[in-house]
Amino acid sequence: METNPCNKLLNVGFSIPSKVSRAIKPDDTIVNVNGVLTGGPEIIIIAGPCAVESQEQLFDTARAVKVSGAMILRGGAFKPRSSPYSFQGMGEEGLILLSSIRAETGLPIVTEVMDPRQVELVGKYADMLQIGSRNMQNYPLLKEVGMTRKPILLKRGMMATIEEFLLAAEYILNQGNDQVILCERGIRTFETSTRNTLDLSAVPMLKRLSHLPVIVDPSHGTGLRWMVPAMAKAAVAVGADGLIMEVHYKPEAALCDGHQSLDLDEFETLMTDLRKIALAVGREIS
Ligand code: PEP
Ligand code: MN
Repeated sequence: METNPCNKLLNVGFSIPSKVSRAIKPDDTIVNVNGVLTGGPEIIIIAGPCAVESQEQLFDTARAVKVSGAMILRGGAFKPRSSPYSFQGMGEEGLILLSSIRAETGLPIVTEVMDPRQVELVGKYADMLQIGSRNMQNYPLLKEVGMTRKPILLKRGMMATIEEFLLAAEYILNQGNDQVILCERGIRTFETSTRNTLDLSAVPMLKRLSHLPVIVDPSHGTGLRWMVPAMAKAAVAVGADGLIMEVHYKPEAALCDGHQSLDLDEFETLMTDLRKIALAVGREIS
């Protein structure tokens, strides 16, 4: 593996893989998600349900988050559930719903791909492919998405160090795809009061070590709907290039992650607050 000359100066105790390294490419990489530029002055807000559940649920949620200012729509069609008996997602039917609401709202869509055999199918519909926390070290999957020319949203593995996270991104860049957004989504620690421990120190660290944009997921990072706004605001303050948040038109009825999903009013209020924080740190949310 090539290493870079800055490793000693940064003193992080590991070799920074070359293609993701800021020492090799000092300028920020801008990731273009169907016209939405991530990694520039603007803070990108990705919102939508954990999973696509029905046309009504997806469309009502998508229309509302767009009005509040979301720039990209999220929604899983293939869901990585801890239990094989939980709702696994709508599959291709969910992807078709996502592309219909994109046609109506103009919002680009990000959705998860879990299996190298699904990359072609999901890539037919999605503007950005999400690699979930559980698959951050699925190397055949990383190589497969690296061979596409789609932007990739790479979520940090729940047990992954910063070094392992950067090495996972390096797998994608190494296949020729440099359109990668890193996402801090919480790590497992001894703490049990939150679902995960949202490691906001990862944001300035990753921004220092790498030229790739860094966003934060305060929904999975806390698992607590009431805590999402506080951590979302903190993420913007600490230098994140964007946020991905779960929003549902009826969180209490959600088939997946309702307990950490904002309702439509909470999301609208949060967007107003986020615009103020963004301005205070020299960024903007349109
Ligand atoms: C998700 O975004 O719905 C998801 C499953 O996230 P993670 O992979 O971070 O758990
Ligand atoms: Mn979820």
